[in-house]
Amino acid sequence: VLPMGSSDMASQPQSDSVKVAVNVRPLITPELVLGCTDCVTVTPGEPQVQIGPHVFTYDHVYGSTGSSSSLIFEQCVYPLVDSLFCGYNTTVLAYGQTGSGKTYTMGTNYSGESNCGGIIPQVMETIFKKADAMKGDTEFLIRVSFIEIFKEEVFDLLDDPGSVAKAAAPARVPIQIRETANGSITLAGVTEAEVKSKEEMALHLARGSLSRATGSTNMNSQSSRSHAIFTISIEQKRTSSSASEKSTSNEYDILSSKFHLVDLAGSERAKRTGADGLRLKEGIHINRGLLALGNVISALGDEKKRKEGAFVPYRDSKLTRLLQDSLGGNSKTVMIACISPADSNAEETINTLKYANRARNIQNKAVINRDPVTAEMQKLRSQLEQLQSELLFSRSGSAALEELQLLQQKVSLLELKNSELYCELKEREMSCEQLAQRAIATQLEKDQLMLKLESARNGKSWDDIENAGSEQVC
Ligand code: ADP
Ligand code: MG
Repeated sequence: VLPMGSSDMASQPQSDSVKVAVNVRPLITPELVLGCTDCVTVTPGEPQVQIGPHVFTYDHVYGSTGSSSSLIFEQCVYPLVDSLFCGYNTTVLAYGQTGSGKTYTMGTNYSGESNCGGIIPQVMETIFKKADAMKGDTEFLIRVSFIEIFKEEVFDLLDDPGSVAKAAAPARVPIQIRETANGSITLAGVTEAEVKSKEEMALHLARGSLSRATGSTNMNSQSSRSHAIFTISIEQKRTSSSASEKSTSNEYDILSSKFHLVDLAGSERAKRTGADGLRLKEGIHINRGLLALGNVISALGDEKKRKEGAFVPYRDSKLTRLLQDSLGGNSKTVMIACISPADSNAEETINTLKYANRARNIQNKAVINRDPVTAEMQKLRSQLEQLQSELLFSRSGSAALEELQLLQQKVSLLELKNSELYCELKEREMSCEQLAQRAIATQLEKDQLMLKLESARNGKSWDDIENAGSEQVC
């Protein structure tokens, strides 16, 4: 299942308007043969196109006397490849009448031999250059799918490598559009071929281009009657070594983004193809996709309608369902309006220019697409880290409590010992005093006895001695 747009809101959306460039191709031989003249003027130095009384301004104008068409990739598409590597979905849409140069500009009819400066071959080259440069610290998973919408059915152009299916071949089984629970659109069972090199990717593009349903009308014998969407999906994962070096919180990020390269069927009205029967039916079906696309563009491009929250008829066709994210959704989008300068095409050219002008008002909201599983893992990881630090904190808290209790016990023991020593001290002080008193009394007794002894030796009466003793004592 190919998710056409991820809705994992991992970051703040960036509001971006759809960029519109006009590519004016030169007059081609069949037009010159018919004697057509150039009726388109590019205002010098301005991204402005004049046709008759009409003047339209865009983000860029290439071809005719405007900037060289070779600058389309550098100015409009290279920034999208950059965004793709940052995790944004991106889209390039080629719009215009049959024969106006959509396939030429996109490079969808890539044969692998000549690189005519088409957008897709340059995108492929740039993607692998960038991936190679980042190989040291990022793992890449690059896949491609290639589908076409023909008569309101979606076909897998990369299915069955053995047969080169034609439009009417009964073997072609349409694939179903599914909507996931989170509202993103997927294609059930579409081939998503993993590619490891530019050459491998180019092979898929060439093979798919051959499988495209083509039919000739009197406007352009080579032009396709179907819408073709070549999708390059990139999954990027930073490898652990670089993650530990940088030690960022995003080390487990997996970014998955998609680049839709859309080559639309001719925008002309059925009556102009001069077709009848089967071909006319095809014309009507193709117009259903483009009609719905036009209604989506005008619903999204009208500021008043947008503010009122007007209904956007994405469901009116398979094309608009698949391009839901590219127009007004999660994608950075560039529309390239291709026009012929021939006066015979003036009416269709004016229609294309009006259509493209309206698309400039579409506001998209692109977000970085993180893989939902990784995003969940990252959330759990940060929760775990928080719990670990809380546990550590509470553990260190309990250790401190134990120490405090020990200290308190020590303090109370010391207090007890202190009071015991104090009592002992008091007791000793008391006994000291008693001893001193006793010593004084003993001394007195001793003195009296000495006196008696003295007087006995001198023949004095005991009374004399007594008196003398008391005198002495006094
Ligand atoms: P679309 O896909 O819109 O029907 P194509 O890409 O098939 O138109 O172009 C119609 C014809 O015009 C082709 O023969 C193509 O080679 C020629 N062409 C388109 N763009 C240019 C260009 N910028 N320079 C020269 N020839 C061009
Ligand atoms: Mg074409």
